[in-house]
Amino acid sequence: MEKIKCLIIGSGPAGYTAAIYAARAGVEPVLYTGSTPGGQLTITTDVENYPGYPDGIMGPEMMEDFRKQAERFGTDVRYEMIEKVDFTGPKHKLWTESGHEIEADSVIISTGASAKWLGLESEQKLATTGGGVSACAVCDGFFFRGMEVAIVGGGDTAAEEATYLAKLCPKVHMLVRRDELRASKIMQERVLNNEKIQVHWNTEVTDVIGDPVVEAIKVVNNKTGEHTEIAIKGLFVAIGHQPNTKLFEGWLDMDETGYLITKPGTAKTNIEGVFASGDAQDKVYRQAITAAGTGCMAALDAERYLTEKGII
Ligand code: NDP
Repeated sequence: MEKIKCLIIGSGPAGYTAAIYAARAGVEPVLYTGSTPGGQLTITTDVENYPGYPDGIMGPEMMEDFRKQAERFGTDVRYEMIEKVDFTGPKHKLWTESGHEIEADSVIISTGASAKWLGLESEQKLATTGGGVSACAVCDGFFFRGMEVAIVGGGDTAAEEATYLAKLCPKVHMLVRRDELRASKIMQERVLNNEKIQVHWNTEVTDVIGDPVVEAIKVVNNKTGEHTEIAIKGLFVAIGHQPNTKLFEGWLDMDETGYLITKPGTAKTNIEGVFASGDAQDKVYRQAITAAGTGCMAALDAERYLTEKGII
């Protein structure tokens, strides 16, 4: 069994920021990246709202910078998943997917969140077989150059991805279940002023047609009850995210949707020595900068905890 003072789970802005602070404090952190090293920002393009980058930066490049900065101060970055935890305490036990057992004095959770799906059988089948259903326009939009596509959702993600797809595709159908967008004003304007994007208000997808590849979607107008079909080659789903916290069920307090609950003004969870940061505990702001901020909080809380316990 390996003994670690501070184990960080996750490699988005929260995890790497926690690692930078913990490493500089001499805590010798070990960071497990999880299945998407770099987290959600590795599947986005331009990041224009992270302070310090006046001309913007590509998401994957930014996460490379985060990783290098964490490693520069001695963070041990490991490309694996944590599969099981035991927080009975006082030392916390964790197991990697290859069965390696770790005993950690403190744990920082930065496992982020994952894309949500509509839950249609046809959607899932076509998504898992690469048949033209995707939850990431930036990753897969390229395959639909010159083709007509649709995107579901009315938030900032859907607006951003619709705008991105409109650069590649002649027409983008944006399917919004209400009669207004949830997206920020600036993103709304970009969508509504883009002549390649057709917004279908009060519209829900009831089925995806095509086998082995998408040919059309069936939609219903939830105000008029009218059913129609739209011929498309690609369907993008951008309806929000689910926190990656299943691993901690039964150990850590979470809300009804699975977001970890921290003590107000801190990164402390209900278990001593276990801290939470980033999107795994934030359903309100969910920004790279807020994730980084809470990663910093988690590292400072962990450092204080380790000092109080006489471990460092
Ligand atoms: P949001 O939760 O903000 O929006 C989800 C959208 O999907 C809403 O329009 C919602 O409709 C719709 N939706 C949810 N479930 C369904 C369903 N089953 N069928 C149809 N539509 C559905 O998620 P986002 O991923 O867009 O954004 C998450 C956070 O990240 C936000 O805080 C956002 O501001 C931020 N963000 C910021 C960006 C930036 O600043 N560049 C870019 C991307 C995201 P309804 O409104 O009716 O609930």
